[in-house]
Amino acid sequence: MQHPLFLITLFVAFTCSLAEARSIEPMKVEVEFLETSTPERIKKIQSAAKLLEKILNTEIFKSRVEGYTHNGVRGYTDSEGRSNEQIYKMIIDGSEVLSPGIDHTANIKITFYYRPSSTVAQTSTQSLVIDFNKKYLDQFTVNEVSGTLIHEWLHKLGFGHSYRYNSRRDHSIPYAIGYMVRDLAEDLIDE
Ligand SMILES: [Zn+2]
Repeated sequence: MQHPLFLITLFVAFTCSLAEARSIEPMKVEVEFLETSTPERIKKIQSAAKLLEKILNTEIFKSRVEGYTHNGVRGYTDSEGRSNEQIYKMIIDGSEVLSPGIDHTANIKITFYYRPSSTVAQTSTQSLVIDFNKKYLDQFTVNEVSGTLIHEWLHKLGFGHSYRYNSRRDHSIPYAIGYMVRDLAEDLIDE
């Protein structure tokens, strides 16, 4: 029979290696408001950002991003040949095209506008700002705002999608991961 101390040592060694394997730096979401708005709007975006941060650090988010398929094919549309694993790594690296550097942080700068259109938020590759349509911000639930924040921020990483609606667009990186976060956030709110 083996000495019990040997078993304990083995167990400790095993748990240490597990902890090491999981010691990736946690991802942060930092929101900056470039203009003021009502306390309700500010609070909604802050709550949505907090939920988003929680989701980005879960194993389920990793497995959904890496396991994404559409029409039976693994991968996203408009991915420019990137694998699901490369896309996940780019997300957790948090290196925005206009502000490069691996900081594991989603830097989100917010401005507001109002237009009775169907556009929820707008952003451009020339700017680090996410311009949020107050029409939708006021209607949306917190988890829908989380989905919008990640969608827009994914554009900051350089991921795009077609401008017009088509069935492929829903499987682009900003849309697919935006819906993913919206749904995971809804589950977190329900808990
Ligand atoms: Zn978009």
